[in-house]
Amino acid sequence: MSLEKSRLGRWLGRSEAPASAPVIATNAEPEAIGADLYLLLDEEGRLQGLSTLLLNRLGLSSQAVVNQRLMSLLLPNSALVIEGVPQDWVGHMLDLDFRSSDGHTLHARGWVQHHGKDWLLQLLDISDLMEEASAARIRQQCLRFAGLMAENIRVCSAERLVSVVAEQLQELAQMWHVPCVALALPEASGVGWRVYSQYSAHTAPELWQVGQRLGSEFDRLDVNVAHALHFAGQTELSPLQGMFANADGFLLAHSRDGIARAWLMFGFYDAARQAPDLGEREWLNLCSALAGPVLFRLSEQHNRHHVERLAVLQDLLGTGWWELLPDSDEILMAPQLVRSLRLSDRIDRLSRPEWLALIHPADRQELSSRLVQLRDKGTPMLLCVRLAQVDPGQDTLWLRIQGQALISGQVQRVLGFMLDVSDIKNQETEAAAAHARLGNLIASSPAVIYVQRYDQGNLEPTFFSDSLTPLLGWTLADCIDGQLADYIHPEDHDIWFERNRQLLREGLVSRRYRLRDKHGRYHWLLDEARLLRDDLGMPVEAVGLWLDVTDATLAAERVRESEERYRILVEDSPAMICRYTPDLVLTFGNRPLATYLECDPQQLPGVNLGDWFSLEQRTDFMQRIAQLTPESPLSTAEVCLELPGREHAWWVWADRGVFDQAGTLVEVQAVGRDNTDVRRSRMQLNQSAKMATLGEMATGLAHEINQPLNVMRMAVINVLKRLERGNIDVEYITEKLNRIDSQVQRAARVVDHMRVFGRRSEVQEQVFDPFDALEGTLAMLSEGMKGKGVQVQASERGAPLQVRGHGDQLEQVLINLMVNARDAMLSRKETRPELAPMIEVQVRPEADQVVITVQDNGGGIDPRLMERIFEPFFTTKPVGVGTGLGLSVSYGIIEQMSGRLSVSNVGEGAQFRIALPLL
Ligand code: ADP
Repeated sequence: MSLEKSRLGRWLGRSEAPASAPVIATNAEPEAIGADLYLLLDEEGRLQGLSTLLLNRLGLSSQAVVNQRLMSLLLPNSALVIEGVPQDWVGHMLDLDFRSSDGHTLHARGWVQHHGKDWLLQLLDISDLMEEASAARIRQQCLRFAGLMAENIRVCSAERLVSVVAEQLQELAQMWHVPCVALALPEASGVGWRVYSQYSAHTAPELWQVGQRLGSEFDRLDVNVAHALHFAGQTELSPLQGMFANADGFLLAHSRDGIARAWLMFGFYDAARQAPDLGEREWLNLCSALAGPVLFRLSEQHNRHHVERLAVLQDLLGTGWWELLPDSDEILMAPQLVRSLRLSDRIDRLSRPEWLALIHPADRQELSSRLVQLRDKGTPMLLCVRLAQVDPGQDTLWLRIQGQALISGQVQRVLGFMLDVSDIKNQETEAAAAHARLGNLIASSPAVIYVQRYDQGNLEPTFFSDSLTPLLGWTLADCIDGQLADYIHPEDHDIWFERNRQLLREGLVSRRYRLRDKHGRYHWLLDEARLLRDDLGMPVEAVGLWLDVTDATLAAERVRESEERYRILVEDSPAMICRYTPDLVLTFGNRPLATYLECDPQQLPGVNLGDWFSLEQRTDFMQRIAQLTPESPLSTAEVCLELPGREHAWWVWADRGVFDQAGTLVEVQAVGRDNTDVRRSRMQLNQSAKMATLGEMATGLAHEINQPLNVMRMAVINVLKRLERGNIDVEYITEKLNRIDSQVQRAARVVDHMRVFGRRSEVQEQVFDPFDALEGTLAMLSEGMKGKGVQVQASERGAPLQVRGHGDQLEQVLINLMVNARDAMLSRKETRPELAPMIEVQVRPEADQVVITVQDNGGGIDPRLMERIFEPFFTTKPVGVGTGLGLSVSYGIIEQMSGRLSVSNVGEGAQFRIALPLL
C-alpha cells in the first residue's frame, strides 16, 4: 500500500527543545537572571558569547559567532529593533526572531543591561506563544473563510449554485495554493462517486472534469481523517493513484453518522508542506463548510422537485394524498384532492364524519368501517367509492381510495391517496354493457364466434361462443383434436383445407362450406376469419365468425334454378322475347326473334330494331316507348316490320319499361307474337264480308245503275226525236246533254264506290277525315235509301278532324250499319205501316275522340241478343239473306283503328256508336 496513513498532527507537531544545561561560551559567566537564553555583546553590539542553550537552539558553535554582529543571527524583520548600539536599546523590550537550526524561527523577547563594559542581552523564548497566536489567527481565518463559503453557497439562487460552488473551490484553491481541487458527491444510484464541481489553476493540468465518474474506491477509506497521498516510488498502479495522476494528493471526507457524504479532493498537493499551519481539524472543517451546504441545497432542490412532480402528478391524475390525524380525528388532504372533491380552496382538512359525508350513501358504510380497521389494526385499505351527487344529472364520480398505516418512529400515521377513476369505471360499465349486448346479439343470431390457437401450422379450436350448441349441437370438446374436419361436407373438404392455408398465408379468409350438425344435418356456413400475430409477426391465433347462411344459400340456389328454368322458357318460347335499350338497340333476343331476323341469337345484341321499321313506324314506336313511366310501364301495339326477303310482317308487341332509381328508362323488355297470319285472315274475312255486302247490294246496284241509264236513254230518245223533226234547238239539246252528263257522273260515282268492295286495304294506315268516309257512304247509299222511303239525315261537315286507319274500311263499317238500320226499319214497317223510317248519322269530336253515331227508329235490338250481335255469323235474317258477318267485321275494323264500336237501344230504335281516337 502506497498510502501513508499518518496522523496529520504527527508531522505538524514540534519536536520539543532538548532540555540542556545553560552553556556560557565566554569566560565571564554572566549573572543568572532566570533566562536560559542570553548573549553577551560589546559596546558596538558585536557578539562576545552565547548561552549554551541558545547555541544549541541556533545550531552554532561559539567560535563561529564571536565578534559577529548580532544581526547575522536574526531574521531581517528584526533589523529595525536593533538599530544603533546596545546603549540605545536600554529600557526597551526587544522582540527578536532568530534563525534556528531546524529551519524554524526562534521567537524571543529580551532586554539589555550592563554587564561590566559589555552588554548582556537576556531572552525569553516566546515561540510557543507566538505560534499559538499564529495558529489561532489561522484558525480564525480558516473559520471565517469556511463561514463565508458556507454562507455564499447557502444564499445563492438555485440556478447559480453550480457556478457559486465552483467559485468557492477556486477561492479555496487560491487561498491555500492548491493546483487542482474537486468536490465529489454520491452517484444518484447511491453507488460510487462523481465529480460535482472542480477547479484547476492555469498552471496545473486539469485532473478532473465535472460529471466524471470516480467509482467506489473512496468507500474503503476512513472518513474521519484526512488522507495524504504519496505515491512516489510505487510501481503498482492503484485506481486511486490513477485518479491523482500518480502525484501527491490530499483527500477529505464530509461525513455524517460515520458515513461519507462528500469527498474533497486536492491534486498535486502536499498539505503538510504547502499549508503547514492548517491542522486536520481545519481541513475537515473547510470540507464540511463547503460540502454541507452544497448537499443541503441539493437535497432541498431534490425535495422541491419531488414535491413539484408530486403536485403535477396529483393534478394530472386527479388524485391527492390524505392523512387521518388521530388526535383531532380529522382528515388532512392535499390541495389537489380538495380541488377534485370540489371543495372550497380554503379547506385543507375535514372531520372524519364530514369527509365520509362526501361519499355516496351506498359506499359510505363500507369506507367508514375499513377506515376504522386501518386506524386500529393497520389493515391496508383499497376500495372504489362513488361521490355523493348533488345534481343527479351529473356523471357519477368514482374514486379509488387506498390507505395504509405507516410507522414512523414511535408514531403510527394513517395515510393514503384518492384517485379519480371515473373514466375507467365508466368505461368498465360501458364495456360490460357492450359485452352483454354482444353476448345477447350472438346468442340470438345464427352466428358463432370462435378462436383457433396456432400450433406449428395447425389451427386448433380453443373457444366457441355459447351459440355453438344451439346452432350446431356441438360443444368445444366435440371439435378439438382435428374432429372439426370430420364434420365438413365431403364435397367441401378441399374448400376447408384451402381456407386454412389461405388464412395462414394471407391472414384473412372468407369461405362458404357445409358443416354437419349433431343430428347429421348439413348447414351452409359463411366463415370469416382473421389471423392475429404477435409483435414478432408470428401467428398466435385465428379469430373468426360462422354465419349460418343455409337459408340464403338454398334460396340463392332456388333463384339460380328458377333463373335457369326461365332462361330455358325464354329460349324455347315460340314468342319473340328480347331486351333493348331506349334507342332500340337489342341487348338480348331469343331464338324465335333471331329466326325472324334471319340470324343467330348471339348476333342479336347490338342489332337495332328500328332498322326493320319504316321511318313512320319507327317514329311512332319511339314515341310510344318514350311515354312509358314507372307508374305505367306497359304498352302494347301492333307493329309492322319490313323483314328481309319477306312481305310485311305484323307483330303484336308488348313492352315493359325498366327504370333506374331516378325514374329514367334504362331498358325495355318486350314479348312479341307474329300476327301476320291472323291479320291476313282478318283481311280475307273483311273481303268476304265485302263480297257478302256486295251480293246483298247487287239488287240495289242494278237499280242505282239502271236509274241513270233510263234517264240518259229518255234524254237521248227525246233529242233524237227533235233531230228527226229538224227542230234543232241548241238550248234544248244542251239541257239534255247536261242531264246525261250528270247521270253519267252519278253512275261513275256509284261504280267508283263499288271499288271499296273490290279493293284490298292499303298495308299502311293513313290519316284521314271521317267525314270523307261518311260522304262516300252517303253517295253510295242515299239514292237507294230514298227509293225505299228511308230518310237519311247526316250532320254537316264541321272543322277538319283526323283519325288514323283505312278510310275505305270505315266507309265499309258505315255502309254495314246503315244497311242494317234500313233492314230493321223496313221489316218493322211491314207491321207498322205508319212508320217513317229515318237514319240519323252524326259525326262530332268529343274530348280526344271523334264519335260517329248511327241512329235508327227500327225498334232496336232484343236485349237478350245484345251481347251476341257482334259474333261472326250471328244473324236474325232469313237464310240466304243475312251472313252474320257485317257487325263482327265492323267491330274488328274499329278495334284495329284503336277505337270502339258499341250499341245501345235509344228512343225508337238502335244506336250504334263508333269512337275513334283523334290525332
Ligand atoms: P246480317 O245483317 O247478315 O244478319 P249482321 O252481323 O250485320 O249480319 O247483323 C247481325 C244481326 O244484328 C242482324 O241479323 C240483326 O238481327 C241485328 N241487327 C243489326 N243491326 C240492327 C238494327 N239496326 N236494328 C235491329 N237489329 C239489328
